[in-house]
Order: sequence, then structure tokens, then C-alpha cells
Amino acid sequence: MEDFDQLLREMEAFAEKQHVPIIWESGRQAFIDAVDEAKPHRILEIGTAIGYSALLMLAHAAEDAEITTLELSPERYEQAKAYIARSPYAGRVHQLLGDAGELLTQLDGPYDLVFIDAAKGQYPDYLHKVLPLLAPDAVILADNVLFRGYVRGGIQAPRRFRTIVKRLRAYIDEVEHLPGAETEILEHGDGLAMTRFRRNNL
Ligand code: SAH
Ligand code: MG
Repeated sequence: MEDFDQLLREMEAFAEKQHVPIIWESGRQAFIDAVDEAKPHRILEIGTAIGYSALLMLAHAAEDAEITTLELSPERYEQAKAYIARSPYAGRVHQLLGDAGELLTQLDGPYDLVFIDAAKGQYPDYLHKVLPLLAPDAVILADNVLFRGYVRGGIQAPRRFRTIVKRLRAYIDEVEHLPGAETEILEHGDGLAMTRFRRNNL
């Protein structure tokens, strides 16, 4: 088995060269800490890209953890498959190719951790579809919720990003008002929304 850290470094270099938007380096530790805290067994990821965050999550999840990860691009799906095959976690990743909006309606929960990181304008839709799939103490992480600084504060987003920004604001507003859950917006990286459900000890 090749060295796992070396594999991650190779993936980081590939992502940088090919402009694959893997989780920003500045937000990586906060992301890892969130997974460490949740110690999930069943993970759902929306937006595989090359499999970088999926592998990072498995490295910090429960020892028996499995992940189902959704990706629209056949090219990314194949790249992820090749990288995952070289990792110690190959047997525990279930990759699905297709539009997450559709795939989500075909999944069976419960999931302990959901990582939302695909089409930024679809976060509210993903959220609605994910809610029925959650374990009682689930955690939802959503990446890029501060989208280059346009979501909060006074900077007007360029026209092409306005729908995304509006939908990300709607996502944040919705998770902040979910009954039985608490949300923190971590400002590391491109913004990570962390929603923890506490249905058991309410
Ligand atoms: N989670 C990865 C990065 C994901 S980048 C990491 O941090 O390592 C976002 C990915 O979402 C891209 O690969 C893109 O192809 C995918 N995507 C975009 N729209 C999608 C959709 N509708 N359904 C599924 N995947 C989608
Ligand atoms: Mg992201």
C-alpha cells in the first residue's frame, strides 16, 4: 500500500494544476476537526470531484466508516475512482454518477454526516432532500457558504454569481432556523457551515 499522505499531496497538486475546487487549504483543519468530533459511521458526500475530501473524511471518521459520494461529471468520477483505488479506503467508498438532485431521492439513510459541496445554487434543494436521511445526531457540513466573501458583508457579487449568493444566504438562513439543530458558520477557507442535530438530548 502506498503512503496515504503522499497520495493526498499528489491529489492536492493535481487539483491545483487542473483547477479542481477541492476544499481550500485554509479551511482544511476546521473540516478535519469537524469530522473528528462527529466520528461518523455512515457518510454522504454531495460533490466527489477527485475524491479528496471523501478520503480525508474516511481518514478521520470511525474505523468502520463508509461513504456514499455523488458526482455529476464522468471525468471527475473516473479520476476519483483511480485515486480511491490507491488509498486504504477503496472498499468503503460507494461512488454514484449522476445529478445529486436526482440521486438524493433514491438513497436510504440514516447518515451520521453529510458533506454538501456540489452546485452552490442547489444547497437549499440538497438540504431538503437530505433532511429525511439523517441520523438523530447527524452533522451537516456545507462548504463554500461564504463564497469568496460575497455572502456576508457589503461587497456586491458580480452578476454571474448573484443567484448562487442568494441561494447560499437562503441555505444559511434555513439551517440557522432548523428545529433541533444548531449551526455555526466557520469562516476558515471559503466558509463552512456546521449544523449539529441534537434531537436526543433536547
Ligand atoms: N468535495 C470535493 C470538491 C467538490 S467540487 C473536495 O473537497 O475534494 C464540486 C463537485 O460537484 C464538482 O466535481 C462538480 O462536478 C460536482 N457537481 C456539480 N454539480 C453537481 C450536481 N448537480 N450533481 C452532482 N455533482 C455535481
Ligand atoms: Mg468546496
